[in-house]
Amino acid sequence: MRRLTLVLALAAATSSGAELSWRAVWEWSLPKRTDADLVRLVESAQALGFNALLMSVPAGKEQFVADECHRRGMQLYLSTVFTGGDPSWQQALTPAQEARLDLPLPADYQHGGEPLTAEEVLQSPLPCWNRQEVHTLFAQRVRRMAALPADGLAFDCIGYRNYERCHCPTCDAGLRRARRTDPGMTVPRWAEDVLVSFTNEMAEVARAARPLIGLTVHVYPVFAPNPYYGHRLNLHYTGETVSWFFHPHWPLTKVEARLQRVLQRQRSVWPDQTAAPFIGFDARQLRHYRSTRRVVQELEAVQQSGASALQMAELGYLLDKPLVAQAVAEKLGGSYRAHWRQPGGRP
Ligand SMILES: [Zn+2]
Repeated sequence: MRRLTLVLALAAATSSGAELSWRAVWEWSLPKRTDADLVRLVESAQALGFNALLMSVPAGKEQFVADECHRRGMQLYLSTVFTGGDPSWQQALTPAQEARLDLPLPADYQHGGEPLTAEEVLQSPLPCWNRQEVHTLFAQRVRRMAALPADGLAFDCIGYRNYERCHCPTCDAGLRRARRTDPGMTVPRWAEDVLVSFTNEMAEVARAARPLIGLTVHVYPVFAPNPYYGHRLNLHYTGETVSWFFHPHWPLTKVEARLQRVLQRQRSVWPDQTAAPFIGFDARQLRHYRSTRRVVQELEAVQQSGASALQMAELGYLLDKPLVAQAVAEKLGGSYRAHWRQPGGRP
């Protein structure tokens, strides 16, 4: 019995989430119609052990949600999605990629995560990052969002629909210009530079509006030639995928290797940049379910890697699986238990 107690005490000591000082969770699936919904959402994130909530807040409710976060020692980052704009500003695909958009999605479609085949294309359109109209539109959006009462902005959806580059005439001209300056410029390097400079420009816009604003990103959709350029982004926390939502799940050895890769380069370009390994979890379909044990192994790998920040997604999906939610809470120092109920809520 004494030995068991000792083992449990050791397990508790090594499973503490204290070294992960920034523990963020994305939310996009929970109800947000009433104040009670919003309070429940914030309480749930806290109960799972997170201290930063990355979410889209109903208009006019930013101060309310920020206050609810702050009274629980949490930060609120407003989800800032770089989609939309005039249809004529969208990225251009090759004719072969365009043709694939009409085909049924394969069962192993990765929805913007590391694709299994070179032909995979993101279904939803994305704007071209080289068009001036796109810079103007999103600078306005970032400026407006930076003025809202939240701790920061969480950037999302800065990437390529084909995970490589845009094929529009503006981009073709940009590539030619880049090669005149640097004859050795490769397409992947140029395409990565475009994503990096666009993201950093938006960070500058946010800081010009509010100098101390917190900034984070999930690097998504994946940039296939180099998924891990997060260290080049002038943001505080760069969410970089180490475990993706969907089947086939990455082997744990791959998770560990990706962790090492993102951590090795953190702060190598920007002194205030911290890598936030991103773990996606979605079990709405059985084949995408990763067991509680597996999620625990991933969180332990993050904790043992020396990371000081974490991004997970998605809060509602985690709460859908109470045993997974409990395991996350135990790893991150939260109070959630599988029998957890909202205070005053129905059992
Ligand atoms: Zn383009």
